[in-house]
Amino acid sequence: MKLGWIGLGNMGNPMSQRLIKAGFPLTVYNRSKEKEEPLKLLGASVASSPRILLEQVDVVIIMVTDDRAIREIFDGDNGLLGTKANGKIIINMSTVSPGISKDIALFCKQEGNYYLDAPVSGSVKQAEDGQLVIMVGGNEAILEKAKPIFEHLGKLTLLVGGTGAGNTAKLAINTLLAFYAQGLAEAVVFARQNDIKTKDLITIINNSAMANVFTKIKGDAVMQHNFNAAFALKHIAKDLRLAKDKGLSTPMGEAAFKTFQQAEPVWGDEDIISIIKYVSSLSKFVSEPTTEDQSMYR
Ligand code: NAP
Repeated sequence: MKLGWIGLGNMGNPMSQRLIKAGFPLTVYNRSKEKEEPLKLLGASVASSPRILLEQVDVVIIMVTDDRAIREIFDGDNGLLGTKANGKIIINMSTVSPGISKDIALFCKQEGNYYLDAPVSGSVKQAEDGQLVIMVGGNEAILEKAKPIFEHLGKLTLLVGGTGAGNTAKLAINTLLAFYAQGLAEAVVFARQNDIKTKDLITIINNSAMANVFTKIKGDAVMQHNFNAAFALKHIAKDLRLAKDKGLSTPMGEAAFKTFQQAEPVWGDEDIISIIKYVSSLSKFVSEPTTEDQSMYR
């Protein structure tokens, strides 16, 4: 099975590397050419457009930012739609709206191709280790054909419904992710305001019933003042906008939506856990941070 990969960002790069290392013949396309270099070194071919890539492979996997990127890849110059290629499987693993999946799936069907939405839970580390959780919307028989690919990317692949259902499940799980990030940030800031060291609070959380992979990874990031984006804050702000468009109007949903939209203009390119800087910036009325915590306020 010849594979094509579109989108070699933080997630697409390690995911596609796993497939080439698993022995699949792989052709890649990325809008910025420099991101194709690591894949070329591993033996991937490069296509100069999504359309050329589609013509050369059996299955195309897409991992790009948002609905706008998906529109350009399908409908832009030399996009995936309007070609003579047929019988191809196109798998969209990006976090996008259920609506765009439904629109694109219909066009694919009209052209004799098949579409699956298959967004993922997990970040760069899980992508590197093939430990993502993959939630799929679409046809079961097509998913069966794609399973040998998913086996190298994730620890669980679950069909959750028809086209767009994978996207809806992903918006639900990312709503919870936003709550975790904001909750961890608020707990740390509150504790710090009351003279509890960040290091001590995170040690307590990570040994308590509230400990999870997220508190461990992001707790470390907070202590090391490492806000480089593994999952950019602008992406969760986007996901909460998509969830709100699908009816998210719960008390915590509204609060998280507002918090991340307000943080995005300043901290959008940093990691999701830089929400702690936004929360800290709201807390001017309390005691000064300890020396240990000073750099949080930069
Ligand atoms: P990223 O590092 O920002 O990479 C985005 C990719 O999309 C790049 O390859 C970029 O190309 C491409 N792209 C953006 N706009 C485009 C356009 N108009 N036309 C063509 N290509 C375009 O993002 P990421 O972290 O890999 O995330 C990718 C998707 O996975 C997002 O939907 C995100 O919400 C989701 N996700 C991310 C994580 C995570 O932890 N990072 C976890 C789960 C799900 P250029 O290189 O040319 O900019």
